[in-house]
Amino acid sequence: MGREASASLFITIGSEMPVQTPDSEKNSAAQNVEFPPPKHFINGEWTNPDSGAVTDSIDPSNETAHTQIAAGNEKDVDIAVQAAAAAFQSDSWRRMAPAKRAQVLWKMAELIDTNRANLAVCESLDTGKTAFDAGKIEIPLVAEIFRYYAGWVTKAEGGVVPLPGNSLGLTLREPVGVCGMITPWNFPMLLAAWKVAPALACGNAIVLKPSEQTSLTSLWMAKIGQEAGLPPGVFNVVTGSGSGVGTPLVRHQEVQKISFTGSTEVGRMIQRESAETLKRVTLELGGKSPNIIFGDADIPAALRGAASGIFYNKGEVCAAGSRLLVERSIYEEVLEGITAIAAKTTVGYPLAEGTRMGPVCNQDQYEGVLEWIRKGTEEGARLIAGGQSLRNEVGGGKGFFISPTVFADVSPDSAIAQEEIFGPVLAVIPFDEPEDALKIAHSTRYGLAAAVWTRDVGRALSMARDLRAGTVWINAYNLYDPGLPFGGFGESGFGRDLGKDALAAYTETKSVWVNLD
Ligand code: NAP
Ligand code: MG
Repeated sequence: MGREASASLFITIGSEMPVQTPDSEKNSAAQNVEFPPPKHFINGEWTNPDSGAVTDSIDPSNETAHTQIAAGNEKDVDIAVQAAAAAFQSDSWRRMAPAKRAQVLWKMAELIDTNRANLAVCESLDTGKTAFDAGKIEIPLVAEIFRYYAGWVTKAEGGVVPLPGNSLGLTLREPVGVCGMITPWNFPMLLAAWKVAPALACGNAIVLKPSEQTSLTSLWMAKIGQEAGLPPGVFNVVTGSGSGVGTPLVRHQEVQKISFTGSTEVGRMIQRESAETLKRVTLELGGKSPNIIFGDADIPAALRGAASGIFYNKGEVCAAGSRLLVERSIYEEVLEGITAIAAKTTVGYPLAEGTRMGPVCNQDQYEGVLEWIRKGTEEGARLIAGGQSLRNEVGGGKGFFISPTVFADVSPDSAIAQEEIFGPVLAVIPFDEPEDALKIAHSTRYGLAAAVWTRDVGRALSMARDLRAGTVWINAYNLYDPGLPFGGFGESGFGRDLGKDALAAYTETKSVWVNLD
């Protein structure tokens, strides 16, 4: 979601459009899609799963299978890790001339651009995100990330350190080895790129396990890598469940690093499991990010930011601005504005042109989000927009459609203000003083992102300094750039994806003492 893309991101939310989707439109976009085969991608080849079993990939807009993926097990993981370890040891990749290695990453970016339309439809069908969001924002950003890290291959230098006597000190940056990667279902290809591109740039070998619900674009990414010139075994994808594939990957003796994006709960388990083999671990976990609007803000811009902060990708965003903290002087005006945007945000079939918000990703999400909405009402928060299933209205009785929902007068310590809902549900909380805003902002166990809307530069910067969050946006929300590191404070995890920081996550420092006598 780079600068241009994010400008469009604001447009995607809150445009008035019809809800109904003609059947012709539903079918045409999906008809020409090409799916990967229901196999793993290991050692440069489509590989049958050991068990022969497959799992359905479910389209959340009609609850039917659009294709199948391989259901992996421990044996598949072992074969993939052995392939990765052999590729790493063979030097085919890590000792490839840096300029050539950079070219392979650049070529991957080009092939991602060339295949954008197909990748976007795969992503939409798997996740329920709109074709616009996938095709115009996220897949182009995937390509940008590969270009960004292609640039680093030839620039990731070590150092020279002054030593006593007739000696020379060198620090070298070496790849970690076999990196296991586990990704969630909300931004399947984008979050895979956050890990795969820097790991490849540093010369590592990879075994990626995408969420079993959204594996298609990760499989395509590996195939694209092979076409771009990655040697066999450098980038492997094993599909399947968290317990069937994720756990054996985390436990495997020959995996040196685990990079995980997902829930705080699973992150904790991964940290525990990784301790046994002392793996390096990066964890990008959940959030309950505060989006803070001061009385002097540009209110229309803040409203657009508030809406995209919680309704982009149906609120299934780790950094979603799920708590809107509003200075009391403008509280009623903001409530009115956000209600109006929620009311005209078109929920519909993801591949239809007019749709601004698709269905949430899966049945558990659908039931969970509706349960949170019930809970909010029970807790005494005031429901001012949405709050219901649109399964009948939009999907003719099928599909995980939920209306954009806003609760006002939410108590900062109530459950809907504390727990990650991971859906299109906003909790609006009034405040009086900047210190109160900070106190409320810091009242959860998370610290992934935050935003401040004000025209007062001193206030903006002092809030940015004081907020305990890995990312702080000023007069903006949900903007991402490959160069800006992303990650959490507190129980939102540790380590950073993106930017130069990610190079540190995929390298070990080696010190060399040279005696010149
Ligand atoms: P999740 O349930 O934690 O799953 C994430 C990944 O872990 C999936 O691939 C999952 O596999 C796998 N997994 C599940 N149990 C496992 C286990 N015991 N061992 C190893 N792997 C296991 O999270 P999710 O429901 O997919 O995603 C939503 C969460 O991700 C939210 O909490 C959100 O905040 C967080 N998130 C964080 C960021 C960030 O950058 N901080 C970004 C996006 C999302 P299966 O799905 O195949 O079972
Ligand atoms: Mg899950």
